[in-house]
Amino acid sequence: MNGNDAIAARARAVLTPNYRQAPVALVKGEGSRVWDADGKEYLDLICGIAVNALGHCHPAVVRALEEQGRTLWHVSNLFYTPRAVELAEELTRDSFARRVFFCNSGAEANEAMLKLVRKYHADAGHPERCEIVACVNSFHGRTLFALTATGQEKYHHGFEPLVPGVRHVPFGDLAALAQAVGPRTAAFVVEPIQAEAGVLPPPVGYLAAAKKLVHAAGALFCLDEVQTGMGRTCRLWAHEWEGVTPDVMSSAKAIANGFPMGAMLATEEVGNHLTPGSHASTFGGTALASAVALATLREIRAVLPRAAQVAGRLRAGLAAIPGGRVVGVRGRGMLLGVLVRGVKAGDVVNVARERGLLVNAIGDDVVRIAPALVLTDAEADRGISLLAEAIAAAPAAP
Ligand SMILES: *Cc1c(COP(=O)(O)O)cnc(C)c1O
Repeated sequence: MNGNDAIAARARAVLTPNYRQAPVALVKGEGSRVWDADGKEYLDLICGIAVNALGHCHPAVVRALEEQGRTLWHVSNLFYTPRAVELAEELTRDSFARRVFFCNSGAEANEAMLKLVRKYHADAGHPERCEIVACVNSFHGRTLFALTATGQEKYHHGFEPLVPGVRHVPFGDLAALAQAVGPRTAAFVVEPIQAEAGVLPPPVGYLAAAKKLVHAAGALFCLDEVQTGMGRTCRLWAHEWEGVTPDVMSSAKAIANGFPMGAMLATEEVGNHLTPGSHASTFGGTALASAVALATLREIRAVLPRAAQVAGRLRAGLAAIPGGRVVGVRGRGMLLGVLVRGVKAGDVVNVARERGLLVNAIGDDVVRIAPALVLTDAEADRGISLLAEAIAAAPAAP
């Protein structure tokens, strides 16, 4: 009794019911392929929702995990570890960032970022500069401050009261942003591409103009690169496409290819305000996570040029799916939203899974594709044809 159905039944008996899980238990992965408890193989084009950037069980990452696992796991941040230092050096190389804080998830990285911007202004004698401006339909995670910054009310219900001092403006609307920022604003927080809103890129020039506007008002400019960063858009950070750098940025998801880790990166001026004792994380930047992340980062840098080629092929193939049910493809690099019409994205995802393809739905209209950066041409072609079949076979919906 260890097949998909048995594991699903046991899961429902012991786990909190907060996830809507597919009736599939995955037991093994290699590259862009995973296998379920009944031995069925899938092409994984969602990769842990943009987490396994190097695919499953990448040899260089496995080697780093095994070597560090035999050497040193964790010693607490009462001491330095060389791995964390090396990783921070690698992350800040060719970057706006000069200071790094390590944690364990995207929500924690955002929590650190939101706390830091308040502390920055408080230290400068302006504790009244405590307000956060974020975007409607944004997603920043589930801890209370990150959740409050998340501009989707459905995630707030039942958890009020939220953190005071957070307001939301429509994504892409500079006039609304200009109205919202003022002498009480600590920072504007925005995703370079609103992933959970349906893989929504900003209007051309929006981020650069937003940074200018926010700085002119004396506030900080923060980017949530939890999903878009670490090579997802075929540049290391999505903000590189926009010619704009943040004061503070969060990263997580792909940073250690599936080993839990998050990071907050900041300029020297801002980052130095996390003074001794002001913020901490027991597991943050532990030797094991840092070693895995270091191997991941080096490998991601190496595969980016090739990934950009495969991403181009993938995007063109998805956009050319016949039958009239695909009305557009948006996003960047290996973070793509396929816009569907006449079918429900959720139905497409279910039919695709039955046919051996893993993708994910955002709302009724968008199928998200976030493959491994090591996807091959052949795998891209197979993904396109499996998705085309699933879209054609999904029941018609008004
Ligand atoms: C996933 C995600 C988060 C939250 O990350 P967790 O690791 O789940 O806490 C925050 N922001 C964005 C943009 C994300 O995609």
